[in-house]
Amino acid sequence: MGVEWEKCGNDSVEEYLTRSKNDIEDRWKETGNSNASITDFTIIKNLGEGSFGLVKLVEHKQTRQFYAMKMLIKAKVIKLKQVEHTMNEKKVLSIISHPFLVNLKYHFKDPINLYMLMEFINGGEMFYHLQKQRKFSEPLTRFFGAQVVLAFEYLHYLEILFRDLKPENILIDAHGFLKVTDFGFAKRVKGRTWTLCGTPEYLAPEIIMAKGYGGAVDWWAVGVLIYEMAAGRSPFCADQPIQIYEKIVAGKVKFPSHFGDDIKDLVRNLLQVDLSRRFGNLKNGVHDIKNHAWFKSTDWNTIFHRKEIPPWKPDVSNAGDSRHFQPFDSEIAKEESKQKAVEDYDKFFADF
Ligand code: AMP
Repeated sequence: MGVEWEKCGNDSVEEYLTRSKNDIEDRWKETGNSNASITDFTIIKNLGEGSFGLVKLVEHKQTRQFYAMKMLIKAKVIKLKQVEHTMNEKKVLSIISHPFLVNLKYHFKDPINLYMLMEFINGGEMFYHLQKQRKFSEPLTRFFGAQVVLAFEYLHYLEILFRDLKPENILIDAHGFLKVTDFGFAKRVKGRTWTLCGTPEYLAPEIIMAKGYGGAVDWWAVGVLIYEMAAGRSPFCADQPIQIYEKIVAGKVKFPSHFGDDIKDLVRNLLQVDLSRRFGNLKNGVHDIKNHAWFKSTDWNTIFHRKEIPPWKPDVSNAGDSRHFQPFDSEIAKEESKQKAVEDYDKFFADF
């Protein structure tokens, strides 16, 4: 691990970005050694699942620290052609260090599975709170929006695209700050890339049109997220994905009447189909967003140092409190119990 944000003292956002970039090329080449095994942990409960993996709450037997353990079944990763995405995920997670991105603490593998352990963020998904509160107040939307802007500024500075922003992939910590999670589609890209991935409501028009795309897709997704937090619904909703895509490429957005002029202006500039006009993608880069009137009360350095008092925080009573994660019947857990080790699979994950 190179530069770590916990040790960044009073660095301004710009100083931290520059320091992080200095050793990125060396860090990117490191493989990173496995640093634990499954027997070091007690499994407590399932927290959530993706399409080929399960996330479980675990406790380290010695340190008594809690972690979210993402477990991916090797056979499933290969079958769903997700080997490259999974290797990207582990690689990206192991080099990043940012207050608003989850942190990888341990990783290891066994004959059946791959494991990535992150700090356990116990306030639950933004998705869960957004459904419960129906929509967020404008100050809370701005507070969360600012953290996502800082997180994406950092990732893009390191030439990493995130590609899967949505309220399900944002966790709220006990203090009320957020952490972006799920780097399953994250990728280090110099220039453009072509893979179709993401979630229908959050896809940028250039992905739908199968054009090569770059970091601007993440700024589009920030526009969708800000809209969704403040409105309580996505700007492009429909029953079928194809109808959603038609609305996205048409780029017409209707705003609820309670939206003020500033938020409307920022969202319109982020949800801009024309890439030569989309905020985040212009010559001033992220500064067009950070200096926008809607963010005029935002002190970016204070937020980066987590010194701002969050407008709201989830109710949690201790580090292992998982009340905001609802129990669910996991299909993947059933599949895992039926897996047999296949030696041949190991060659795909030699660098994991
Ligand atoms: P993922 O497959 O990475 O999208 O994770 C699936 C779900 O597991 C997420 O939507 C969260 O509900 C949960 N989860 C993932 N990472 C963490 C974490 N670090 N702390 C708490 N819950 C998590």
